[in-house]
Amino acid sequence: MNGYEKMRAEIEVREQEDKTPACPKCGAKIGTLKHTQKGKQVFDFWIDPHGQANYESDEFYTDLDPESIWECPECWEVLFYDEEEAKKFLGG
Ligand SMILES: [Zn+2]
Repeated sequence: MNGYEKMRAEIEVREQEDKTPACPKCGAKIGTLKHTQKGKQVFDFWIDPHGQANYESDEFYTDLDPESIWECPECWEVLFYDEEEAKKFLGG
Protein backbone atom coordinates (compact mmCIF):
# COMPACT_ATOMS: atom_id res chain seq x y z
CA MET A 1 0.00 0.00 0.00
CA ASN A 2 1.48 3.35 -0.99
CA GLY A 3 1.20 6.50 1.06
CA TYR A 4 -1.86 7.79 -0.76
CA GLU A 5 -3.73 4.48 -0.43
CA LYS A 6 -2.86 4.36 3.26
CA MET A 7 -4.23 7.88 3.76
CA ARG A 8 -7.46 7.00 1.90
CA ALA A 9 -7.89 3.87 4.02
CA GLU A 10 -7.40 5.87 7.21
CA ILE A 11 -9.97 8.44 6.11
CA GLU A 12 -12.44 5.66 5.30
CA VAL A 13 -12.00 4.14 8.76
CA ARG A 14 -12.53 7.54 10.35
CA GLU A 15 -15.68 8.13 8.28
CA GLN A 16 -17.05 4.73 9.28
CA GLU A 17 -16.33 5.41 12.94
CA ASP A 18 -18.19 8.71 12.93
CA LYS A 19 -21.73 7.43 12.96
CA THR A 20 -23.13 10.67 14.39
CA PRO A 21 -26.11 11.49 12.18
CA ALA A 22 -26.44 14.89 10.48
CA CYS A 23 -29.56 17.01 10.81
CA PRO A 24 -31.38 16.96 7.46
CA LYS A 25 -32.41 20.61 7.95
CA CYS A 26 -29.16 22.33 9.04
CA GLY A 27 -26.52 19.65 8.50
CA ALA A 28 -25.15 19.80 12.06
CA LYS A 29 -23.82 16.53 13.47
CA ILE A 30 -26.22 15.70 16.28
CA GLY A 31 -25.92 12.83 18.72
CA THR A 32 -29.06 13.79 20.63
CA LEU A 33 -32.46 15.30 19.90
CA LYS A 34 -34.69 17.58 21.93
CA HIS A 35 -37.98 16.00 22.86
CA THR A 36 -40.90 18.20 23.86
CA GLN A 37 -44.45 17.44 24.89
CA LYS A 38 -47.36 19.80 25.24
CA GLY A 39 -49.26 19.69 28.46
CA LYS A 40 -49.98 21.43 31.74
CA GLN A 41 -47.28 22.14 34.31
CA VAL A 42 -48.75 22.64 37.77
CA PHE A 43 -46.95 24.66 40.46
CA ASP A 44 -47.56 25.07 44.15
CA PHE A 45 -47.91 28.80 44.77
CA TRP A 46 -47.60 30.53 48.12
CA ILE A 47 -46.57 33.75 49.79
CA ASP A 48 -43.63 33.46 52.18
CA PRO A 49 -43.17 35.44 55.45
CA HIS A 50 -41.32 38.18 53.49
CA GLY A 51 -44.38 38.68 51.30
CA GLN A 52 -42.64 37.12 48.26
CA ALA A 53 -44.47 34.94 45.77
CA ASN A 54 -43.07 31.43 45.47
CA TYR A 55 -43.58 28.72 42.89
CA GLU A 56 -42.54 25.10 43.15
CA SER A 57 -42.99 22.56 40.36
CA ASP A 58 -45.64 19.97 41.05
CA GLU A 59 -47.11 17.56 38.48
CA PHE A 60 -46.80 17.76 34.72
CA TYR A 61 -49.84 16.50 32.83
CA THR A 62 -49.41 15.70 29.14
CA ASP A 63 -52.30 16.67 26.86
CA LEU A 64 -54.89 13.98 26.22
CA ASP A 65 -53.86 14.07 22.57
CA PRO A 66 -50.21 14.98 23.12
CA GLU A 67 -48.13 16.51 20.37
CA SER A 68 -44.86 14.71 20.91
CA ILE A 69 -42.02 16.07 18.82
CA TRP A 70 -38.31 15.44 18.41
CA GLU A 71 -36.29 18.49 17.37
CA CYS A 72 -32.74 19.27 16.28
CA PRO A 73 -30.84 20.79 19.25
CA GLU A 74 -29.02 23.14 16.85
CA CYS A 75 -31.71 24.61 14.59
CA TRP A 76 -34.85 23.54 16.54
CA GLU A 77 -36.56 22.26 13.41
CA VAL A 78 -38.99 19.41 14.07
CA LEU A 79 -37.41 16.28 12.64
CA PHE A 80 -39.70 13.53 13.93
CA TYR A 81 -43.18 13.01 15.33
CA ASP A 82 -42.57 9.39 16.15
CA GLU A 83 -40.20 7.80 18.68
CA GLU A 84 -39.41 4.87 16.39
CA GLU A 85 -38.18 7.22 13.65
CA ALA A 86 -36.20 9.28 16.15
CA LYS A 87 -34.58 6.09 17.49
CA LYS A 88 -33.70 4.92 13.98
CA PHE A 89 -32.13 8.31 13.20
CA LEU A 90 -29.84 8.07 16.25
CA GLY A 91 -28.87 4.54 15.35
CA GLY A 92 -31.12 2.72 17.83
ZN1 LIG B 1 -30.71 21.12 12.60
